[in-house]
Amino acid sequence: MEKEIVSAIQKFIKIKRDEENILNIIVRDDVFAILEKECCVLYYSLDDDIDGCHICKPLNGEMKQFVYINTSKVLQEQVWTAAHELGHVWKVDQYVQDNVANCNIDIEKIVGRFTAEFLMPTEIFYLEAGRRLAYNKYAGGSLTVEIMMDLVTYLMNYFCVPAKAIIKRLEELGNITEKSIQIYLKVFNDNKALYDQIIRENQYTRLDKQEDVYKIANLKNDLELIEKQHLAKDKYIQVVRKKFHINSGTPMNSELDYKG
Ligand SMILES: [Zn+2]
Repeated sequence: MEKEIVSAIQKFIKIKRDEENILNIIVRDDVFAILEKECCVLYYSLDDDIDGCHICKPLNGEMKQFVYINTSKVLQEQVWTAAHELGHVWKVDQYVQDNVANCNIDIEKIVGRFTAEFLMPTEIFYLEAGRRLAYNKYAGGSLTVEIMMDLVTYLMNYFCVPAKAIIKRLEELGNITEKSIQIYLKVFNDNKALYDQIIRENQYTRLDKQEDVYKIANLKNDLELIEKQHLAKDKYIQVVRKKFHINSGTPMNSELDYKG
C-alpha cells in the first residue's frame, strides 16, 4: 500500500484518538465501548460464517448507523470485526479519499489497513515483536516453527487480534514477504496442539474466549419502559426478551441506597 495512504490512515487515527479522548494505546476489547459510543451495536450469536456487518438506516428522519457482531466467534475475532466496522462508521475511506490525491484504492483495503493500524500501532508492534524474539534468543535469519508459533501467539494475546492479522502485519511492516503470508498461516493452523500449549504455559487469558452474548445497549431498560407505557403488545415484548435471553428479574429503574 502506498505510503501516502498509510500516512493518511495514521493521521486519521491520531485525530480520532484526540477527538474521542482514547487514552490507551493498545485498544484490545475496549474497541466495543468505543464503537458503542458511535452507533447502535447488536451482539448476537449466530451459527454462521458471518463475522459482522455495518448498515445505515433512516430512523425518525435521520440516518442512523448500526453494527452487528457475531458473538459465536472467539473474542480476538470479535475485536477485529468491531474495529473494522468502526472504520466504516468513522468513514476512514472518505478521509483518505479527501486527503490523498488520485486515490482510487478499494474501500475494504483502506478499512482493513485502518483496523491493523488502530489495533496494532507500528512502533509498539515492532517493539513487542523484537522483545519476544529477544526473549527466545533469536539471532537473526529465518525462524524455527517453534519461535514463529511463540511470536505469533504472544502478539495475538498482546493485541487481542486473530493470527492472520498478526501475520499480515508482519508483512505490512516488512518482516516477511507477501508470499510467506499463506505459508505462515498454514504452518500456524497445522500446529494447533503447540498453539494450545503456548496459551496454557503462558496463561494467555485473552485468547479464544467465547461466550454467546445477546445484547443491545439499554435493551432491558427500554423494554421495561415500553411495557410500562403499553407501547407494544405484550407478546412482542416477550418475543424480544426471549431472543435476547433477558429475564424480567429486578427492574432496571429500582433504586439502591448509596451515599455519594
Ligand atoms: Zn468492511
